[in-house]
Amino acid sequence: METWRICATCGVENSIDLEVCAICADERQYLPPGGQRWTSPAERDAEGCRVVVEELEPDLFGLTARPRADIGQTALLARTPAGNLLWDVPGHLDDAAAEAVGRLGGVSAIMPSHPHMFGVQREWARAFGATVWVSARDRHWVRREGPELRSWDEPFEVLPGLHSSQPGGHFPGSAVVLWTAGAGGRGVLLSGDTVATVPAEGWVTFMRSYPNRLPLSAAVVSRVAESVTALEFDRLYDNFGGVVRADARAAVARSAARYVSWVRGDHDDET
Ligand SMILES: [Zn+2]
Ligand SMILES: [Zn+2]
Repeated sequence: METWRICATCGVENSIDLEVCAICADERQYLPPGGQRWTSPAERDAEGCRVVVEELEPDLFGLTARPRADIGQTALLARTPAGNLLWDVPGHLDDAAAEAVGRLGGVSAIMPSHPHMFGVQREWARAFGATVWVSARDRHWVRREGPELRSWDEPFEVLPGLHSSQPGGHFPGSAVVLWTAGAGGRGVLLSGDTVATVPAEGWVTFMRSYPNRLPLSAAVVSRVAESVTALEFDRLYDNFGGVVRADARAAVARSAARYVSWVRGDHDDET
């Protein structure tokens, strides 16, 4: 029988190395004071952990584990007539959440934007008979392999109207999905933290590590922004409940230009 545990810090399932979570030991993440801790679905249930499902706009739902069972992400369920995409994955799956998602049409495909968002993706896949699409560039970060997992590398239509691509940056395979029917047909970008919102309205950012504040280079931010702004969208949802409600494509371009000017040294005389 398979032995697997959930990293109590990042919420990623693991059957490969139960000494330390490689995702948390990486410089983009962190181990908590006192070191590695593991948990299980039963322990999470006993703690009262539930995945709360909230409607964000027609046919888009946010899934957030409360109390926190992962890095704190809000995974997204995009509903289409051809099936639903679970974009990013909570670190828990409880019966009530499975029922709620079942009432919304279940899950046909699962795609984590990058390894921090793997959560308990195999549990979700098995519950709904879904395929998990993992970037080939980041497949080596998978800590719990299974027949539900498939690799992808070239941009493709995960489900009709949901187009995936990999601008990279935060991870080599960091992905985004364009949902063409979103925002009343103006287009929505599901950005993971390939592009992350910030408190200032109309601005976003790009980082190698968010918790450890590691930047990316001017060249990489330019490349990511070029890849993203080639897509047609008006609204952007990141993986922590952040949203740029309108004119999000311009926000990405404007924010990349500002970021590049700072990391290139244009403003060094102001520091
Ligand atoms: Zn971890
Ligand atoms: Zn991340």
